[in-house]
Amino acid sequence: MGDENKEKLAKADFGHNIIFLGTGTGKFARGKQLRATGGIILQIEDNQFHIDPGPGAIVRAAQNNINTRANTSLLISHSHITHCNDVNAVIDAMTYSGLDKHGVLISNNSVINGSEEHHPYLTKFHRNCLEKVIVIEPGQRAAVNEIEIKALYTKHTEPSTVGFRLATPYFVLVYSSDTEYSPRLIEEYKGANILILNVHSPNNEPVAGNLNTADAIKIAEKVEPKLVIIQHFSKKMLEADPIQEAREIQKQTKCQAIAAKDGMIINPLIYGSKARQQTLTANY
Ligand SMILES: [Zn+2]
Repeated sequence: MGDENKEKLAKADFGHNIIFLGTGTGKFARGKQLRATGGIILQIEDNQFHIDPGPGAIVRAAQNNINTRANTSLLISHSHITHCNDVNAVIDAMTYSGLDKHGVLISNNSVINGSEEHHPYLTKFHRNCLEKVIVIEPGQRAAVNEIEIKALYTKHTEPSTVGFRLATPYFVLVYSSDTEYSPRLIEEYKGANILILNVHSPNNEPVAGNLNTADAIKIAEKVEPKLVIIQHFSKKMLEADPIQEAREIQKQTKCQAIAAKDGMIINPLIYGSKARQQTLTANY
């Protein structure tokens, strides 16, 4: 990478955007790409995070005019395919196959080192393309520039799964990742301005290790974020219509709720006016 381009990227100011490169999951919705599975891009001034790059992440990034080269961090919650399949492809694209070594990967242990059940998704080559690799467990924190990242508790079929809380100077965003309901989630999510919940199934449809709409209502009415975004939809959820499910969440809580669509862009600043105060005074 030429010095001139490096300079340009160093001074990149993306503004503030949450961009959904995918909103689907499950063998049907993912396998047939009924919804894309590219993850979420979070742009905060000169930081660009790619969260949970599932199958098709670099394709969806290109389709949505995201410059993958400008990624500064990757956040990966666990080693299920929807969340980490394209980790190496994204690192390869963002670093020019390691020619421009940069960026940080923050992820749970199984993606980086593997576990008894899971081969590590991250290849040794791509690990070396990055500036830094951080293994994170629930309760632990890491900082990327002015943004504090905390790994959150989950109750999921992949036991080392983490959610993420990003405290920025402007807003606090929580991403649940995959988890089933637990009262502990409410403590974990308190203070979130924007809450992204992976709502796999509609109504009160039981689903091991994941949330349904009834769970999302229980969480939202206690956490009271300014905005709840639901995503990570199974085929069943798509058939029930996520827009209707989001309306139900909004009706039964005091929170604005929306169902994410592929390619949807949200300006988080609209929902974070009190965030500065909370970031400064938060006691967590
Ligand atoms: Zn999962």
